[in-house]
Amino acid sequence: MSDQKILEKSYDPKPVEKKWADFWIDHKLFTPETPSSKQKFSLVLPPPNVTGSLHMGHALSYTLPDIVVRWKRMQGYNVLWLPGTDHASIAVHNVIERKLDKEGIKKEDVGREEFLKIAWDWKEKYGGKIIDQLKKLGFSLDWTRERFTLDKGFSRAVRKVFVDLYKEKLIYRDYYLVNRCPRCGTVLSDIEIEHKELRSSLYYIKYPLKDSQDYITVATTRPETMLGDTALAVHPKDKRFRKYHDKKAVLPLVGREIPVIKDKSVDREFGTGAVKVTPAHDPTDFEMGKRHGLKQIIVIDGTGKMTEEAGGEFKGLDRFECRERIVSKLKQQGFIEKIEDYVHSVGHCYRCQTMIEPYLSWQWFVKIQPLAKQAVKVVKKGKIRFIPANWSKTYFEWMYNIHDWCISRQLWWGHRIPAWYCQKCHHIMVAEEAPSKCDRCGSSQLKQDEDVLDTWFSSALWPFGTMGWPEKTNDLQTFYPTDLMSTGFDIIFFWVARMIMMGLKFMGDVPFEKVYINGLVRDFKRKKMSKSEGNTIDPLDMVEKYGTDALRFTLAALAVPGMDISLSEERMAGYRAFVNKIWNASRFVFMNIQGTPPEIDRKEMTLIDRWIKTRMNDIIRDMNDSLGKYNFYEAADKIYHFIWHEFCDWYLELVKPDLKEGNKSSLSVLVDTLDQILRLLHPFMPFVTEEIWQNLPVDGQALVVAEYPKTDESWEDKESEEFVNVLKALIVEIRTIRSENYIVPQKKVDLMIRTMDKKVRDNILKHKKYICILASVQEIEMVEQFPSDKRYLKGGSGNLELAIPIESGLIDFKTEKKRLEKELGKIKEDSEKLQKRIKNKDFIEKAPEKVVQETKQGLQELEEKRVKFEWNLKQITEWSSEDRSKRRP
Ligand SMILES: [Zn+2]
Ligand SMILES: [Zn+2]
Repeated sequence: MSDQKILEKSYDPKPVEKKWADFWIDHKLFTPETPSSKQKFSLVLPPPNVTGSLHMGHALSYTLPDIVVRWKRMQGYNVLWLPGTDHASIAVHNVIERKLDKEGIKKEDVGREEFLKIAWDWKEKYGGKIIDQLKKLGFSLDWTRERFTLDKGFSRAVRKVFVDLYKEKLIYRDYYLVNRCPRCGTVLSDIEIEHKELRSSLYYIKYPLKDSQDYITVATTRPETMLGDTALAVHPKDKRFRKYHDKKAVLPLVGREIPVIKDKSVDREFGTGAVKVTPAHDPTDFEMGKRHGLKQIIVIDGTGKMTEEAGGEFKGLDRFECRERIVSKLKQQGFIEKIEDYVHSVGHCYRCQTMIEPYLSWQWFVKIQPLAKQAVKVVKKGKIRFIPANWSKTYFEWMYNIHDWCISRQLWWGHRIPAWYCQKCHHIMVAEEAPSKCDRCGSSQLKQDEDVLDTWFSSALWPFGTMGWPEKTNDLQTFYPTDLMSTGFDIIFFWVARMIMMGLKFMGDVPFEKVYINGLVRDFKRKKMSKSEGNTIDPLDMVEKYGTDALRFTLAALAVPGMDISLSEERMAGYRAFVNKIWNASRFVFMNIQGTPPEIDRKEMTLIDRWIKTRMNDIIRDMNDSLGKYNFYEAADKIYHFIWHEFCDWYLELVKPDLKEGNKSSLSVLVDTLDQILRLLHPFMPFVTEEIWQNLPVDGQALVVAEYPKTDESWEDKESEEFVNVLKALIVEIRTIRSENYIVPQKKVDLMIRTMDKKVRDNILKHKKYICILASVQEIEMVEQFPSDKRYLKGGSGNLELAIPIESGLIDFKTEKKRLEKELGKIKEDSEKLQKRIKNKDFIEKAPEKVVQETKQGLQELEEKRVKFEWNLKQITEWSSEDRSKRRP
């Protein structure tokens, strides 16, 4: 092979990324083998909402598993990463309703069927934009298996789960007080409620006792609910109210007689110690009402408006409007004792931030305790592990305090509840397919439940529903349970816990073995990114500016387990520079390649070859270790420093003399080293690595399916490493002396080295070409003592000292003297500043330990520099005066 490839002068990510993203998909390189003798590694993608557009949170929680997936695939696992989208009931409703709203239409005007048609059309046209974005970013998902939570197969799985749980009495229907969002028009589960501290008022209202001048005062934050009061309650042991036990009070404004009941749940410390009881509008009152057989009067409907039952005067009023009206009437009639400022926690809809309304209605629930019990067990036993481990604490806490899960939603877009009501005998039938007649009375007048299921009910089945359950498919057999779930902490309860419960229930096994919880993405000031703050960073903008590889690497490098990520564009610009560095280094390699190099001949290897091979072996070990622990930042940091500071800064320089001599072994090692580096880096920077690798004279279809490097202890060679470290130290020292003394690189110097170590001495002589070329040295002489009659600049220390003899003309003494004096002045100034700081008691006590250490170290470095500069100055002063005396006649 003689056609020698040369890379383009500079790297342009855009066309390269498109090319390989398409190539990988077209060649089905993300599709696992079936059947396969290889060990499997599987995971499912947390399905983004079909309404979604890629944000930085996605970019992070998809990049990290993609690194693992690519690594495992290269390690030879049969890898499945299964993608898809979630139908996201409420989010789609919001989109469509907003659209209809613009045309002045309500969803009720179009009706259920038409609405669903619009929603499907919308989904086909605009939904799944995020899928294109995921493809563009090259996440290595198997698109041949893409699923949607509302597709046919998945819907069947959802119905079967519902029916099975119903048969086992783990799903039931109940008339219960639930949370409803008046704006979204649906009930929500407990965890869909966000509690916010609100400043409001506490109203003290007097309730007159029947046939008495006496009254009981109660405190409430919601006076409008008094229209639905059916009792007053006091604690049975509260002496203050003993005389009112079993008396009747008269509800102000309404005139209804209500009993004064005794209940232990009354908090004696709150307000006056007596409370009003509104069973239809407050969870505590609801329970109390059940205990005492109180009537439940609904005075506020699900949209937040007052009902007929609230009374003609208030009917149809908004809840907050009604509050004002009630308070002013109570004031007028002398029923208000006082009004106090009050701060309390109020539930809001997590979707639209509207204040939720407790709402008494028929709903469907999952009886959660039996499912939760199993789900706790598997985490306790370590069958599922959270990474970082402390998230399991949060998980347990929630699981121990879990409430039954309200799963019905008053929406249309979603899985309609598979329950049918007989219009004749009110019998309820739950079935996978619509029954044709009532199995109790035979009537064919059946009506399906109008509600759909909570979106999270279907997402909970994602790990097995996507693999064809309830059929016993090959995929289930091969890929379930999955190995890893990567997601944000905010959906541990919404999703992770429920997947565990459903997986155990229906597959008899955990859905995944590890749960990696990634941090939040914050801005560079560590502030949470939000649209209203205007500090969001759009990942697609970053891709446009810096390339996908730079974005991915930034996210990985910042992903410290258990920590939030503080993102800055600067960091991304830095990693774009890293991409360019790799590109340029590769160009250098390509310029040296002629055809396919022969196998590495171990006997022919130079010191540099041996050294880079042993260092390579170390970095391979490090990378596999860090990735195995999901320490993405650590792996990123290691490969970055290896490539930049060892491969580019040293190896490519040190190998030049050998390449120049036409050393075949060195060329083989050079190509091999670049090949290995690209493989190691590929999971982090898939595009640039694939592009370069495809041009390398090595076998294989694509880097994405090439083998990930494994350690090979036979390359271990500590001796070469030790000596190359000596070489590097010498070269650095000479370069420092040269630059400190303004000796230009073109000017070659001679070098004297003094060491007692025979091995080092021999090695230096044997390998002196590297020093000569890299430090621009003419001749190296090993000496026992530095001659006293010669002028020289000194360096090194301890057992390895060096000296550069000063011939005439090498240094201009006069300018050099001036420069040294100036430098010394600056050093003194700087060190005085630091000394002052260290002597300051306040600083030592208050500054962080790290800063104090850094200051002390800085001072020490200045001190060392001062000694060296003073020595040099002394020398130069002497030499210049000698020169002058010589010139005297
Ligand atoms: Zn809402
Ligand atoms: Zn019937």
